[in-house]
Amino acid sequence: MAEISLRQVRKSFGSSEVIKGVDIDIADGEFCVFVGPSGCGKSTLLRMIAGLEDISSGELRIGGRVVNDLPPKERRIAMVFQSYAIFPHMTVRENVAFGLTIAGASKAEKETKVAEAARILQMEHLLDRTPAQLSGGQRQRVAIGRAIVRKPEVFLFDEPLSNLDAALRMDMRLEIGKLHQQLKATMIYVTHDQVEAMTLADKIVVLKGGEVMQVGSPMELYHNPANLFVAGFLGSPS
Ligand code: ADP
Ligand code: MG
Repeated sequence: MAEISLRQVRKSFGSSEVIKGVDIDIADGEFCVFVGPSGCGKSTLLRMIAGLEDISSGELRIGGRVVNDLPPKERRIAMVFQSYAIFPHMTVRENVAFGLTIAGASKAEKETKVAEAARILQMEHLLDRTPAQLSGGQRQRVAIGRAIVRKPEVFLFDEPLSNLDAALRMDMRLEIGKLHQQLKATMIYVTHDQVEAMTLADKIVVLKGGEVMQVGSPMELYHNPANLFVAGFLGSPS
């Protein structure tokens, strides 16, 4: 079980506090979307959950266990970034297997897991290509494949589709929705895109200036925005 809870989580860089006492609860298997303007702290929150950034104060639990001081590799979390973070000199197969290679997995294990990820992401025909021979959407699929093979309990996506054109974004949005249904993992997804938020989310967290403005289902936020800010982001135009 990989439910996630943040209790009064704060983060300061020097004298500037960028996360100001955030409480968030995400159920096991839930698809949670973080939205909010640039600089409101979305990436910082993801990085703290992944363990890539220390928490200044407060408590972070994953699967019921306090993980404030747990190193990233012990958190069973995979993070997918918008800049694909794949290696240009490796084939797709090698890229997808990368995390397994450094973990010392056997050749057979790597083959099985890469084949499974390739099937889920429908990229069996791309395994021998290098990134230069791929489209933007295919590269993003490789990045997601790399996350899948590690069998994480939690996936963190930081604006994974923002570098893609509109048509590809829609395809990939559907892919990510399917991925969530298949893997039933807990997912946190940061986006600027209202359509992505409304269609993918079980729960949306609206952030502003390092604080939570509102949490709710897409329909709750749409019909009952707590304030004008939330309405402007997601709510009905009235
Ligand atoms: P978002 O992802 O919502 O655009 P970020 O989490 O990247 O926002 O940033 C939140 C705030 O924290 C911003 O004001 C940003 O400038 C600041 N910030 C992020 N990382 C650092 C850092 N390593 N050092 C100093 N300030 C940072
Ligand atoms: Mg960001």
